Amino acid sequence: MIKIVTFFLIGMAILAIFGRLRLPRLPKPRGRTKLKAPRRCPRCGGFIVGSGPCNCEERDT
Ligand SMILES: [Zn+2]
Repeated sequence: MIKIVTFFLIGMAILAIFGRLRLPRLPKPRGRTKLKAPRRCPRCGGFIVGSGPCNCEERDT
């Protein structure tokens, strides 16, 4: 029985070591990579919906 416990502990230690090694490398599956970052106007800072430039200049003038 003692051997089983020691093997279990060793297995847990190995899993912990592998977990530490893997965790930083694993990319998060649900990241922002799929979603495109919303474009923002560099002038007014507002979100640009759709395509084309922001119409803040037209609005201001
Ligand atoms: Zn703008």
